[in-house]
Amino acid sequence: MSGDRAACYHRARLMGFRRIVPGLFLLVFPVLELSLLAGAAQAERASRVKRVRERPVIWLPGPETARTGAADVSRIIYVNGCWGAEGCTIRHSTANDALQNLSSIPNVAQGQDVKVSEFAHSQEVWNETIRCLREVYWPYDVEIWDSFPGRDADPADTATSHHEAILAGSAGELGLSDNIGGIALASCDPVDNVISFSFANTTGPDWIELCWTVAQESAHSFGLDHAFQCLDPMTYLPGCGQKFFRNELADCGEFSTRPCNCGGMKQNSHNRLLAALGPGQSPAPPDLDIVAPRPDNVIGNDTQIEAVASDPRLVDRLELYINGWLYKTQQGHAFENRSDPYQFELPALPDSVLDIEVRAYNDLDSMSSQTLRVTKGAPCSSSATCLDGQECDGQGRCIYPAPTGKLGDVCERPMDCISHLCPQLGNEQRCSEICIPGLEGQCPADFECLEAGSAGTCWPIETAGCCSAGAGQGPTPGQILLFLLCAGMLLRPWRRRRSPGRPGKECEGKRR
Ligand SMILES: [Zn+2]
Repeated sequence: MSGDRAACYHRARLMGFRRIVPGLFLLVFPVLELSLLAGAAQAERASRVKRVRERPVIWLPGPETARTGAADVSRIIYVNGCWGAEGCTIRHSTANDALQNLSSIPNVAQGQDVKVSEFAHSQEVWNETIRCLREVYWPYDVEIWDSFPGRDADPADTATSHHEAILAGSAGELGLSDNIGGIALASCDPVDNVISFSFANTTGPDWIELCWTVAQESAHSFGLDHAFQCLDPMTYLPGCGQKFFRNELADCGEFSTRPCNCGGMKQNSHNRLLAALGPGQSPAPPDLDIVAPRPDNVIGNDTQIEAVASDPRLVDRLELYINGWLYKTQQGHAFENRSDPYQFELPALPDSVLDIEVRAYNDLDSMSSQTLRVTKGAPCSSSATCLDGQECDGQGRCIYPAPTGKLGDVCERPMDCISHLCPQLGNEQRCSEICIPGLEGQCPADFECLEAGSAGTCWPIETAGCCSAGAGQGPTPGQILLFLLCAGMLLRPWRRRRSPGRPGKECEGKRR
């Protein structure tokens, strides 16, 4: 870890960390009247001026604090309102211990006590903040407590380690600038049994802001850096409503991008928390309603399929299936357009009965689905009027038979393959899967990952030597890539491998 620590220390110096106690570095910002630049915060108008309260982090380069592997970090976050006239008493110490009320964060002499006054807002604000925190941490194996864990239930238990998130008081009570909204310890590895501070009495009473602050400060101790992503609680950027740990690669940074403190330029908040805490519960799927056409309508060629979908986490993507076959994928709207309806143009299909299904996903793949039946023109009466490869079933629907082509099987079209991928290399077409060239284990044994632009395709090793992408009558690497990118949107495995990159276009080639 010494190399990591040295790197963190180096970056801390570059970022303006100020050394306050041996081994600890405190990032101090003044309050800014920040006029958000266009593009800096997706949901804020450029003209909006917002007072931004800083949420610095004390990066832990030294070994003096209990640092632990993911398997050992406590699964309890205790949100402490410091209730009562006495508030919380915290003793400054280089040893950080939530059970002993010891913290290196107060800017006072070693051994000196500070008092944090009780949460000053209403019970309703407290309740909403706790509800929000439970929702934000719902996907992870951690519990949000708002009473002392262990001791209340079992007075003999004084050893239930936890993360203590103090939600009370002001930074000034710790000898820090009152411009600070929250402060925490951080490390590239989860740190157990430490105290974070969210200064409710100078930050509230907006529960969204309080929830954002506690989520960020507590997550620092689980190894998360700041994210330059308005939707994520690790951000400094205001707006975007209730924030969730996003399942996407986001730039690190406060008001601009910078290298992440633990390496790389990007961070997936959700994945880092999963690694630290393990999985919890899946969030509810998006609300979804197909508003047009209506069930049993008779429709024509120019029909638009319209749906409304919403999710507190935002809708990640919608898929359009007709008679069980995926035809189109569409990326979810950005925060500022989240209430807009979604439209799909009806694909070019023969007259027949159509079971139209729309699926909506959030960024954690919680999915909702709605299906309705309409008739385009008239039901089919024979397979002759259906598309190539389709059959007319007893309900008047043109349907593709379930594909049977396995990886490496010779194919003629995507619907022959279980993967829906039938790329051509040279003069051969084979069922394939997307892979990332240069990474081990992308394809099964006897297959290799051939480059096709910046993506790749799994191809049988014994036949690969005879062909080169773009040779003969086959497509160019660029054409293969285009095909793969388009077809890849039909494939969850591809997306997972590339995760958390998000498809940003429809297969029809329209850029949204
Ligand atoms: Zn922070």
